[in-house]
Amino acid sequence: MVSRVIPVKAFDLVLFGATGDLAQRKIWPGLFHRFVAGQFDEHSRILGVSRSDLDQAAFRKKVAKSIEDPKADKDLIEKFLEHVDYISIDATGERGWDALAQAVRPDTVRAFYLSVAPRFFGPIARRLEKFGIATPDSRIVVEKPFGHDLESAKTLNEELRACFQEHQIYRIDHYLGKETVQNLMALRFANSLFEPLWNSSQIDHVQITVAESLSVEGRGEYYDQSGAMRDMVQNHLMQLLCLTAMEPPSKFTPNAVRNEKLKVIEALEPVPPSDIARGQYRAFGEQGSYRDHSGNPDSTTESFIAMKVEVANWRWAGTPFYLRTGKCLRQRLSEIAVFFRNPPHMIFPGAETPQGNVLVIRLQPDEGMTLHTTIKDPGPGGMRLTEASLDMTFADSLKGSEQPQDAYERLIMDVIRGDQTLFMRGDEVESAWAWADPIIAGWTERKTKPQQYDVGSAGPEDALLLMHKDGRRWRSIGA
Ligand code: NAP
Repeated sequence: MVSRVIPVKAFDLVLFGATGDLAQRKIWPGLFHRFVAGQFDEHSRILGVSRSDLDQAAFRKKVAKSIEDPKADKDLIEKFLEHVDYISIDATGERGWDALAQAVRPDTVRAFYLSVAPRFFGPIARRLEKFGIATPDSRIVVEKPFGHDLESAKTLNEELRACFQEHQIYRIDHYLGKETVQNLMALRFANSLFEPLWNSSQIDHVQITVAESLSVEGRGEYYDQSGAMRDMVQNHLMQLLCLTAMEPPSKFTPNAVRNEKLKVIEALEPVPPSDIARGQYRAFGEQGSYRDHSGNPDSTTESFIAMKVEVANWRWAGTPFYLRTGKCLRQRLSEIAVFFRNPPHMIFPGAETPQGNVLVIRLQPDEGMTLHTTIKDPGPGGMRLTEASLDMTFADSLKGSEQPQDAYERLIMDVIRGDQTLFMRGDEVESAWAWADPIIAGWTERKTKPQQYDVGSAGPEDALLLMHKDGRRWRSIGA
């Protein structure tokens, strides 16, 4: 397979929060990989911005450290750093903005990446406009969380739209940049095999799991204000649900895709309390409890949530989507599992009715897809049946072509190209909050407490019961 890197036009990427954790762990390494892949035009520049008073040399040293690729050629790192500059700016003050206005060039793609806390989105947008740095063609990228509820999301949208138009605003959900997530769209809309089966008459139910093995230690205070519902379900799991459930868009354009995703969110039924299981991990051995890590001994914030979601439209009526996500679970695992209905009639005497097929789309670890099928148990002994899987791990099957990019690499290049397909539109985010808000408000009203679960388990007992009462079972999280 031939590697195909499509170079992007020369750009000035202004990275606010250039010294922050996200920039160091994801954005700088991602930009470096794209540079090495040959995707940069030689006139492209990245202007790092943060509060710290750093000179160019000190800043470039920091960037070099964050690339931290022992295999990387030192000359290549040096060449990459020639594209990098630094300006110290106070996002809420007047310092540094004139220098930025001088530094950006006309006739070059201009993008502002706000890898800073959301309270800075409005102040930065206003100053970009005030100092004449924002142009009608420039792009602004904002990180999650996009709001805490519907009201705050609306405020952020208003602040951004006061200075930029919707077609200039790129709201990141890095799940959309994952190779497998895009592959889900390719699987559904570039093949004729699955789409006729993709409905409630063929599909029994869908399970979407994003399990994390790590605790919230280190970011417990922040997490305690948010919880699994706000941190994961309203955004990442919602996006996975949308791509699984949406109708085929008429074309692969940003608004056609996002219109279809919005229709899914708008078709979500309110979720009754009986269809939700919330959990909080308890102390185990050396490992502290959620309450230790959050610093809040009375916390009722959930570190785990499982829920049954109904999409009320013709395609999905009667096919529930079960969502599940949590911290300190047995294994780090993200997948979408589509359970097809059981065969209606068994023709093999003595054999049990085989399970319906399950199509598993794995996001991590080992991005890929597996289709579980029933086959004849090989060898003599009559017509005995067994399960076998058709397995496709992308890293194996795509050997020779370019390895899948990290989500951030892909998304940043899409910003430069001006392609919003894999970014959330303002109305989508607001609609997702409008669905999530009453669920969260219900917990406060009823003063419900999450159920405790063991570190390294598959979550609380209530999550198992949620499935059992429907006569179904979760797929296992790890062995
Ligand atoms: P962080 O480590 O706290 O970094 C914050 C950055 O903002 C630093 O570069 C800091 O510069 C800069 N900054 C703070 N106050 C400023 C001001 N007044 N003017 C100019 N710059 C200022 O934060 P982070 O973890 O990188 O997160 C950045 C954003 O990404 C947040 O919205 C976060 O929610 C989101 N996000 C982060 C992650 C992650 O894994 N870290 C994942 C998803 C989303 P100085 O160092 O010079 O003060």
